[in-house]
Amino acid sequence: VSGTRNFTPWTYWRLRLDETDVEDPCPLEDLGAVAEWRERAHARLEALLAPWPRAVPPDLEIGEAETLEPGVTSRRVVFDVEAHMSVPARLLVPAERSEPGPAVLAIHGHGLDKDALCGDDGGDPLRREAIESNNGAYALALARAGYVVLAADLRTFGERADRMLPPVDPHDENAEIARHHLDCDYNLVCASLLGEHPLTQNLWDLRRCLEVLSDHPLVDATRIGVAGWSYGGALALFLAAIDERVRAAVVSCYFSSLRASHALPWNICGSQMLPGLLRQLEHVDLAALVAPRALLVESAQSDYMFPADVARREFARLVPLYEHLGAPDALVHDVFDGPHRWNGAAVDPFLARTL
Ligand SMILES: [Zn+2]
Repeated sequence: VSGTRNFTPWTYWRLRLDETDVEDPCPLEDLGAVAEWRERAHARLEALLAPWPRAVPPDLEIGEAETLEPGVTSRRVVFDVEAHMSVPARLLVPAERSEPGPAVLAIHGHGLDKDALCGDDGGDPLRREAIESNNGAYALALARAGYVVLAADLRTFGERADRMLPPVDPHDENAEIARHHLDCDYNLVCASLLGEHPLTQNLWDLRRCLEVLSDHPLVDATRIGVAGWSYGGALALFLAAIDERVRAAVVSCYFSSLRASHALPWNICGSQMLPGLLRQLEHVDLAALVAPRALLVESAQSDYMFPADVARREFARLVPLYEHLGAPDALVHDVFDGPHRWNGAAVDPFLARTL
């Protein structure tokens, strides 16, 4: 009798995923072949993401300006993205902004929302702790630095949360994670019934956010960046890969590899997946689709979800590509001491140069 039989899916999937390779990876060791690869890879990414939702007129509503803090105003923004779905967001404008200039679309991490991005804890000390421990108020930090910033709730978070589980003990971090994952799981189940993907739907919403920013009188549509941490970093990387309107991307605590980031049971949820993705495009391949546009990767030394050593190895492979494309300064890696959280130390100089 074999002593190596396995009966459980988790072990089964570890073994299956470990023996699966990207079938047509970016030829980073043969840079002359990259141009043709990019066309193939871009078509593959479009095919993986399909079908996209059907567009509707946004019917944009912009609320009254409130002072978020001295020097930064916040407005509530709501718009339609498809039949039966609208997006709530916050638009931050630095008080000194008087003519069109650079803007950033800020994307929140898993379990957080647009208000956390703006440093708004709603008077809840637990939320304050969550925002501070993740250094998560980076929409506010970007507005302080002079950027017009749009921060939207992703599907199943903030005002868009279904809350399929009854309220859990807010001090029980694992219960909170389970609650968010159930919302994502149910969203994935329903999307799968129609052959659609939550990742595509969130990217669709974020692309509409780019249009809201582009149309704003104080935004130069050629100077728009994206910035996201963790789950928001995943969406920032995909968005920059698929949409050339993104001039600069800050991808914090995500870039490493699909394989490495799947080594924890609850790390990645169905909202971040596309069927067959691992055979088609790794993180480094998505980054190669962003090149030569500006890309700042943040990696935490103590990030056990998106390991820094994997990030370093994969990032190093991108350096010759950016040099080959004549944009060596557009690629920056900030590896910082600490756990899985937004860092921000390299963001201001990076965006000042590239936006
Ligand atoms: Zn999720």
